[in-house]
Amino acid sequence: MTYSSPTAHAPSRAAPTRTGRGSAVAEAVVDLGAIADNTELIAGATDAAVMAVVKADAFGHGMLPVARTALAHGASWLGVATTAEALALRDAGITAPLLSWLHGPDEDFRPAILADVELSVSSIGQLAGIAECAAELGATATVHLKVDTGLSRSGAAGADWPALVHSARRLEREGLVRVRAVWSHLISADEPGSGRTATQLHRFDDAVALAREAGLDPELRHLANSAAALDEPRTHYELVRPGIGLYGVEPVAGRTFGLRAALTLRARPVLVKRVPAGTGVSYGHDYATATDSNLALVPLGYADGVPRLASGCAEVRIRGRRHPVAGRVAMDQFVVDLGAHTADTQDEVVLIGPEREGGPAVTEWAEWARTLPHEIFTGIGSRVPRRYVDRRGADLPHGEEYLA
Ligand SMILES: *Cc1c(COP(=O)(O)O)cnc(C)c1O
Repeated sequence: MTYSSPTAHAPSRAAPTRTGRGSAVAEAVVDLGAIADNTELIAGATDAAVMAVVKADAFGHGMLPVARTALAHGASWLGVATTAEALALRDAGITAPLLSWLHGPDEDFRPAILADVELSVSSIGQLAGIAECAAELGATATVHLKVDTGLSRSGAAGADWPALVHSARRLEREGLVRVRAVWSHLISADEPGSGRTATQLHRFDDAVALAREAGLDPELRHLANSAAALDEPRTHYELVRPGIGLYGVEPVAGRTFGLRAALTLRARPVLVKRVPAGTGVSYGHDYATATDSNLALVPLGYADGVPRLASGCAEVRIRGRRHPVAGRVAMDQFVVDLGAHTADTQDEVVLIGPEREGGPAVTEWAEWARTLPHEIFTGIGSRVPRRYVDRRGADLPHGEEYLA
């Protein structure tokens, strides 16, 4: 393994890279042991079943390895946004129950129905489209009716809910759909004790009651994301839907549940050079060296998910020490001011790393870029190879072996 050990000379078997000679100049290393532990921790916090949310390539961590690991460690469901994501999971041989919840207006639901992908429904029009596809196939589509309890994204508005549940009951009688669940999504689960959650719970229970009055018999109710799964037992019902917590980010302000970061983002400097005091760095010369300095050039830029907004405040770790990102982050690269310290091209520049080793944590990047850890993770670009390891750092070449 050549990447992290500068003394090794064996050629790396990692993905082909921009150097063309074996070892990656940048990579995201995903510790599937942390995904396993986090899934177990969340599953242990509830009596409900766990749906691992693996949308957006598992928040940038790699959908298939994360899905397999979560299913082997306490999750029994998978959740994704699009049917394309769901079908990719089925194509990889994953047979667990699977919900997809964001559909195009003219979506062809037939491939999803054939693949036993369960479909969220927010409107009568959507339900009719799904029923039509089921009829063409001679199949029954399994649906989760979504009620908008206040977030005002998807889900049927309160006024439209009675008509939706009656329509669903009619289609159930015709054998075209089966309503397996009623569900919704929280507004402020990350703020403990928020009155909004209480209001949403009331609306949700009322919506379930209306569905039952219409003759539906939903086997599942689900509402909780990571924060609620860890902190709000009254939101759990039969199923919880954690995303960010699986990836090791503590989801509730001011609380620590013991989740462990799974992703390390690192690179090697491609050039280190000495410059005199007062040297302007990167576009626009927003930054100038205060002293004679060593500058390290890092081959990751905003196209790889390093936020340009973090220019001027971000730090990275090299040889155990934090150094500032100097000047503007560019599309493919940025510069680090090492001051009097030095580095060489075999060193490791840690952009996101374990906090016990000195980070930086993804939450720091989120602050530097005035965003959420979710956006930092999902921004890590396709140019950055993902590598999967177990708890001890041993390679899992295809991310498939970590089922123990
Ligand atoms: C993304 C998403 C989740 C996961 O939320 P986290 O806050 O990341 O745990 C759950 N449910 C739905 C509908 C989502 O879109």
